Amino acid sequence: MPEKKQFRAIKGTRDILPPDSALWSRVEQAARDVFANYGFGEIRLPIFEETELFARSIGAETDVVSKEMYTFQDPLDIEQIIQTLVRRGIDPTKIHLGEGFSKPQIWDALQQFEWLTLRPEATASVCRAYIEHGMHTLPGNVKLYYIGPMFRRERPQKGRYRQFYQIGAEVLGQSDAPAIDAELVEMLLVFFRRAGLGLTTLYINSIGDKNCRPQYVELLREELRKVKDQLREDSQRRIETNPLRVLDSKVAEEQPIIEKLPRIADHLCAECRDHFAKVKDELKLRGVAYEENWRLVRGLDYYTRTTFEVTAAGLGSQNAVCGGGRYDGLVELLAGPPTKGIGFAIGSDRTILSIQESDAEGWKRRLPGLAVFVAWMGAKSYPAAVSIARKLRDCGVSVELPPEEMKFKKSLGLADKLGARYALIIGEDEVASETYTLKRLSDAEQKKLNENDLLEYLESEKRSG
Ligand code: AMP
Repeated sequence: MPEKKQFRAIKGTRDILPPDSALWSRVEQAARDVFANYGFGEIRLPIFEETELFARSIGAETDVVSKEMYTFQDPLDIEQIIQTLVRRGIDPTKIHLGEGFSKPQIWDALQQFEWLTLRPEATASVCRAYIEHGMHTLPGNVKLYYIGPMFRRERPQKGRYRQFYQIGAEVLGQSDAPAIDAELVEMLLVFFRRAGLGLTTLYINSIGDKNCRPQYVELLREELRKVKDQLREDSQRRIETNPLRVLDSKVAEEQPIIEKLPRIADHLCAECRDHFAKVKDELKLRGVAYEENWRLVRGLDYYTRTTFEVTAAGLGSQNAVCGGGRYDGLVELLAGPPTKGIGFAIGSDRTILSIQESDAEGWKRRLPGLAVFVAWMGAKSYPAAVSIARKLRDCGVSVELPPEEMKFKKSLGLADKLGARYALIIGEDEVASETYTLKRLSDAEQKKLNENDLLEYLESEKRSG
């Protein structure tokens, strides 16, 4: 006998079970509702893309691309092989004749693989889709949102997973008006409120654009070189590869050094300074409270100007529930037309953790639970039980109908354990009198109702929540 193996979810991935999954649905529905009110439409994207898409947009030196991507080789299918041969000047129809090409040439062409990556984030994919579908010709700004899993090979801990979920929104188009930034942030905070997230803090910053950021990065690099000996290995490496990321460091002994570094706010060009000032005015106009954080540079290369982050309570060190920013020029970098863009990605896992931790008792109570448990007894009452269960479900009432007869006491015990609000008692007496006994389980109050009154009563209960 082969050894029996029990399978477990891969490290950093997890199953989301009821009742947690009901909270996930509610949070996702809040996003759909709020985003629709702001004119956003959903985009459903592939889970994997060409590796190069991410490498080029996120940046080869970022942690995400250099260390964390799930990348695999996919053998080309016959169509792709033929296209490759044709691109190399080999006519596939003539291969059997052995004309005009060498065997190694064909072998080389057939050995082609495509490098694919499980998406570590979705902004690059949205930009790819924007270009692929010529969305720049659409009227006004293109406003899209997505919901789904992302993959990064990070060290798993509370609030950090290898398969995690994001809810994101992007605005793409010709305008970089500060009102776009502010409205997007307003929408984000409206979502957090609607989702039931308690205390959140919004941090904002501007990291300049291609005119002023390179000079600042150079200045930062020079200053960092002077203090290199006092920094840890990670930061030392980043001085050369990506000095902005040093500002992200959480290492305690580096903090006093970082605090003395030059700040980007003092090195923005006039346009970026003006843009940032107007974003802040627009936020004030909308009553959105924010804190400025000059060290908020974000981990991905494509950001320009506005960056922002939201943190929430109850999450320990992994307390960022959303990151976002402007990425003018990213579409162009991916060979699309000149386009402005801004977006955010909410971490669903952490948002839900925060809701659960801040209201350990309450979150379950607010979910729609089981309304009715049908306690039927006796073979003669079974057809009536099946029929009423169907009618109640058609009215949108959630019903549990035991598949096998149970003793009355056991039936009520199970109804209680399942958290049902009511037990609907159907015995032979009820069938004979064409009435039902509805028992409220919280206080054992009972009513006798005919079918119409029962349906009406439970439907109105459902409406009043
Ligand atoms: P980023 O795409 O890195 O800007 O992340 C945006 C948000 O996604 C973060 O604020 C987190 O809430 C969430 N997030 C990023 N990486 C992970 C992860 N490995 N596990 C759980 N949530 C994550």
